[in-house]
Amino acid sequence: MKPSPFDYVRATNLTEALALLERHGEQAQILAGGQTLIATLNMRLSAPDWLIDITRIPGLSGITLTETHLVIGALTTHREIERSALVAQYAPLLGQAAPHIAHAAIRNSGTIGGSIAFADPAAEWPACCVALDARFVIQALSGERRVSARTFFRGLYDTDRAAHEIITAIEIPRERAPRRSVFMELARRHGDYAIVGVALLGRVDQGRLSDVAIGYVGAGATPLLAQGAMAALEGQAADADVLARAKAALAQDLDPSGDLYNSPATKRHLAAVLLERAVKQLLA
Ligand SMILES: Cc1cc2nc3c(=O)[nH]c(=O)nc-3n(C[C@H](O)[C@H](O)[C@H](O)COP(=O)(O)OP(=O)(O)OC[C@H]3O[C@@H](n4cnc5c(N)ncnc54)[C@H](O)[C@@H]3O)c2cc1C
Repeated sequence: MKPSPFDYVRATNLTEALALLERHGEQAQILAGGQTLIATLNMRLSAPDWLIDITRIPGLSGITLTETHLVIGALTTHREIERSALVAQYAPLLGQAAPHIAHAAIRNSGTIGGSIAFADPAAEWPACCVALDARFVIQALSGERRVSARTFFRGLYDTDRAAHEIITAIEIPRERAPRRSVFMELARRHGDYAIVGVALLGRVDQGRLSDVAIGYVGAGATPLLAQGAMAALEGQAADADVLARAKAALAQDLDPSGDLYNSPATKRHLAAVLLERAVKQLLA
């Protein structure tokens, strides 16, 4: 299929892009890596009158470190994150998750800002950002605001971003000693969207877990923070009883929908299997 007709503008700076979004509102779509948007245009799932290309806007790409945060520009590609030494040092969870995103060709073009904005619950970055307690920098002509990843995702493909706003960066709290992390997912084939995935963070001291955070991919309408399982593991040595309590807590934490191949019950089972594997790997 071919897309509906649209006008295309390549913005040269952020103010120009924001002004175009203000003018055209819901009739405009931002074009970043195009790895999701072009497919939705071609399938006519989306039919904007305007495409605002932000890829040449300076300052929206790259990974830097401030006193308090690791800052990833919205146009930074999945591949750049996968290969970044700063990410490996300060947010290794992202480096562990990156190889699970599609295939190399898509990772070379797709951007973290596009993934966050699209808010697919089966995508890796949103769940990682929820686990890492990241925040998103969101710019409008009227000013800038920061929104926690834990409140940004509101429903299926629904976020706390208005049509006239652009995500400019992802900020991840900088930890003096980064926690250990594990990312795991189950997919039918490598590179497919996950059936279920888990992003686990925690410290291990004499076999006991602390500062535990657990984000889930594909286990609800949004990326989810598994707060019950986190509470069950916090301060505990993860023996069989503790693991059983954490897995049981997932019944409340998760709300997966079925898909063509997997029922909600199967996804719940797989989520529990992944949690046990991830905790064991974190402790190893
Ligand atoms: C075959 C295939 C397999 C894939 N598998 C996976 C996978 O396993 N896991 C995964 O996570 N993803 C997967 N993807 C999606 C891929 O990761 C995309 O790159 C990503 O979801 C969107 O990023 P993008 O830069 O390509 O955004 P685009 O496609 O350009 O845009 C996506 C949406 O976000 C909006 N947008 C983009 N940037 C911004 C911004 N800075 N501020 C506000 N709105 C913005 C656009 O208007 C559009 O609505 C796959 C894609 C393909 C084609």
